Amino acid sequence: MSRILLLIIIGFMIYLLFRGFMRSQVKRDEQPKSVEAEDMVACARCGVNLPRSDAREEGGKWVCQGNPNCR
Ligand SMILES: [Zn+2]
Repeated sequence: MSRILLLIIIGFMIYLLFRGFMRSQVKRDEQPKSVEAEDMVACARCGVNLPRSDAREEGGKWVCQGNPNCR
């Protein structure tokens, strides 16, 4: 019985390690993309150009995200 418990714990640890590994892989993939060439979009409200990741879509138009000067 304790062996089954041990297997479950080991399996869970492998799962956590794998999940952490996948997360770090995703991060590594994301970073060069944003550094290299990220699409720039113009805010529909204030006209500021910003990377698409900093903008959010609202009614089919891109607007600033977290920009206090917008609106
Ligand atoms: Zn704006």
